[in-house]
Amino acid sequence: MRKTFHFDSAPDPYIADAAVLCCFDERIRQTVYKFLKHQRILRPDMIIVAGGARTLASPRNDFERDFILEQVRMSILLHQTPCVFLMSHSDCATYGGLAAFGGDREREASHHKTELQRAAQLIKDNFPNLEVQCFFVNFEGVFAACGKNAEQAA
Ligand SMILES: [Zn+2]
Repeated sequence: MRKTFHFDSAPDPYIADAAVLCCFDERIRQTVYKFLKHQRILRPDMIIVAGGARTLASPRNDFERDFILEQVRMSILLHQTPCVFLMSHSDCATYGGLAAFGGDREREASHHKTELQRAAQLIKDNFPNLEVQCFFVNFEGVFAACGKNAEQAA
């Protein structure tokens, strides 16, 4: 192979701070990475797929859901991951965007909260020892929908 890029990175094995399931939508990428740093999740195992937590809450098929659960299982197995962050976001195309909620941001956020809680329950059923936190991302920031951060806010 021909070297096409040089960059030094740490080759040491690691323990992941969290497995993070989120959408591949580029608009939320910076927010998600900055948020993870803010939460001191410095070594996340990123599971980036269309729809993020939707793949557990409202999967298109069993394969999709099982594939994501397997990714979480692998993160625990390979990197001793103690925690999972489930994320969804505003205007997600897999839900039909904000338009699917008639442009109503409140209604969209409330729907996503229910979705995130359903995804969290599926994770708890499959991985009883894993800590679960859920977050909704919009174009102004990140909102805790369930887990430790949500309880602190309540
Ligand atoms: Zn999306």
